[in-house]
Amino acid sequence: MSEEKPIVITAVFTTEMNTATAGLLGAGQRLAKETGGAHVALSSGGSDSEFAAKLSAFADRVITVDSEDLANSQPESWLNTISSLSSQENPAAVILGNDILSQEITPRLAHRLGGASIGDAQAVTVEDSNIVVTRSVYGGKAVAEIELTASPAVVWVRAQSMDPAEAQATPGTITAGDFGANVETRTRLVESHDEESEGGRLEDAQIIVSGGRGLGGPEPFEDLIALAKVLKAQNAASRAACDLGWVPHSWQVGQTGKKVAPQLYLGVAISGASQHMMGIADSKVIAAINTDPDAPIFKHCQFGLVEDYKKVIGPLKEKLAKLLS
Ligand SMILES: Cc1cc2nc3c(=O)[nH]c(=O)nc-3n(C[C@H](O)[C@H](O)[C@H](O)COP(=O)(O)OP(=O)(O)OC[C@H]3O[C@@H](n4cnc5c(N)ncnc54)[C@H](O)[C@@H]3O)c2cc1C
Repeated sequence: MSEEKPIVITAVFTTEMNTATAGLLGAGQRLAKETGGAHVALSSGGSDSEFAAKLSAFADRVITVDSEDLANSQPESWLNTISSLSSQENPAAVILGNDILSQEITPRLAHRLGGASIGDAQAVTVEDSNIVVTRSVYGGKAVAEIELTASPAVVWVRAQSMDPAEAQATPGTITAGDFGANVETRTRLVESHDEESEGGRLEDAQIIVSGGRGLGGPEPFEDLIALAKVLKAQNAASRAACDLGWVPHSWQVGQTGKKVAPQLYLGVAISGASQHMMGIADSKVIAAINTDPDAPIFKHCQFGLVEDYKKVIGPLKEKLAKLLS
């Protein structure tokens, strides 16, 4: 780690100050404090934006970048921009969130900067001048501490499970970054389609109603959607259900899907394979409905019901609708 100028850059790819953003900034802020250095937040949007002002409460410096390509979340544009900023700032660490964009950029950025990268961090600290990341391994069965021996450390964190950043006594400065031609790319966005999702990102959901292959087809998901509406929840699914085309792939949680950390995760007709559990391990409460009393999900849940989901979802929805109305 550079002795002279320990700087931690936190890359914020959203303009929403939600739990995930607060957790991401918290990770960067705490690491900067531990290194005794400065916390720099990089964000899209203008330097006079409301969001930049919000960010300044949690960083010593906010650097904004205004570009259409970045607004379109082009990975290569962001990669070039952060590389350029890193050459100027010589950071000890670059911290990113657990969105798809961050996950794509992290290893590429580390490679470009000659640093080291790791993903899915549950804690980031400093030991003997090196960044040390804690993350779960073997499908959540063990926890590993990994030291990043090359600098900068480029790390994407499980943002929504991190403690939020604390507001500073003095807000940081806000400046518009000048990255010039650096945002030019060798790829071009031709077309994009918005994912159909009510109520925001699955990663930020407080309640999730999720379905698996045991539902038997796409139709029963309509019942889970109706139940989610009553609970003001979002819907998710196992990989098996997504692969069968019953629901969009954007619903998948797990090792190769999204990592979620809701207050309540209700898994319906999901066996609880380790690859699925990896994505939901940070949930505060896990509840499961499954006909098989030996389904692995029952080993990990606080509330389990051995029953056919067909007998449960309808009455549960009715009851909750009455209770919550
Ligand atoms: C490299 C790799 C990565 C993976 N990544 C992921 C990932 O990101 N996410 C993921 O989910 N999986 C992932 N998987 C797949 C994972 O191993 C499982 O195959 C998958 O999670 C199983 O999905 P499921 O629980 O819906 O289906 P199943 O394992 O088929 O389980 C269905 C369950 O439904 C129950 N059931 C049946 N009928 C009913 C009923 N009427 N009422 C109630 N319960 C009923 C059954 O008892 C059973 O437990 C990955 C696998 C690999 C190898």
